Amino acid sequence: MDLEVFNDPEIVKKLSETIKNKESSRINRTVKIMHICGTHENSIVRFGLRDLLPENIKVIAGPGCPVCVTSSRDIDAIIDLALSENVRITTFGDMLKVPGTKLSFQKAHSLGADIQMVYSIFDAIEQTRSSKKPNIFFACGFETTAAPTASALIDLDIPDNFFIYSVHKYTPKGVYALLKSGKINMDGLILPGHAATISGLEVYERFVKDFGIPCVSAGFEAADVLLAILLILKQINSGTPKVENGYKRVINYEGNKKAQEALNEVFFLDSAIWRGLGEINETGYELNRNYSRFDAKKNFGIKYPDNFIEHQKGCRCGEVILGNITPLECHLYAKRCTPEDPIGPCMVSDEGTCKNWYDGGGIE
Ligand code: SF4
Repeated sequence: MDLEVFNDPEIVKKLSETIKNKESSRINRTVKIMHICGTHENSIVRFGLRDLLPENIKVIAGPGCPVCVTSSRDIDAIIDLALSENVRITTFGDMLKVPGTKLSFQKAHSLGADIQMVYSIFDAIEQTRSSKKPNIFFACGFETTAAPTASALIDLDIPDNFFIYSVHKYTPKGVYALLKSGKINMDGLILPGHAATISGLEVYERFVKDFGIPCVSAGFEAADVLLAILLILKQINSGTPKVENGYKRVINYEGNKKAQEALNEVFFLDSAIWRGLGEINETGYELNRNYSRFDAKKNFGIKYPDNFIEHQKGCRCGEVILGNITPLECHLYAKRCTPEDPIGPCMVSDEGTCKNWYDGGGIE
């Protein structure tokens, strides 16, 4: 299908008018709709969709950027290892500038650590074949990225000197726990267009059951996002919250069974620290016993400090990720914190809210 149809100005105009004139005008309060996908924030900023919405409909960015929620405890641990042992660390480009409590990968590289950027786990494995030292892939991402990691470990012939330090995280349980704890509040949830291709939509049924929240999946074109907002408002107005598929051309209700099987074969879900959000049970993908030979945390005896506290240096990423403030409310935004010299992770990745707002010209 031609994607241009989803950005057709007439369709976009019609959707925004229906939201404004038909659905939102029936709601006599402010409605907070959260998305949990950095690419959705990118689309919303790029297409200027917030400007097309009425005053009482607020779309806020939630914990949808995997780089942003990677704990500085893990970044510190892998950087310490890179500086003290003869190892090579590989990771994605948008991790390189993310600060730990002391250093970023980029700064550690300038101090002599062997740190290389890769585009995928397959790239990381190929680089390992021409290296004599242990290569540790710092594996970041939600289920969309965890699934290829699992498939690679199952299917490929992998060199003995290849290891993984997993900071992969599982979205649905993380967002559910944050809702349950009251750390995030919303009237409707736009489901992640990438991650839900793997997890499917069924896992979000309990959001509806336990919190009465409309949940609608969305693609990434302007009309996709507006359609999801419209469907959420319709559910609010009819008083019938449910899980609805607004991205049928890509997502199905059950998700990708093959990918789910690969994830279950390679990983189990353990508690994980989400940067700025704390420890959340059963949200961190850790390697199962049969794959422990790849586990850098075990094979390199990674130790963490007791009572670790994230040091944010005035950064308010935790509040941005929870949708409690916008980047403009952080006094460092676009002054001391810029994509060239980021203070927090939300200003680093293309999925980070602060970076998206900055790139979109959101500067007061
Ligand atoms: S602008 Fe920078 S310091 Fe402020 S919350 Fe965003 S990333 Fe953190």
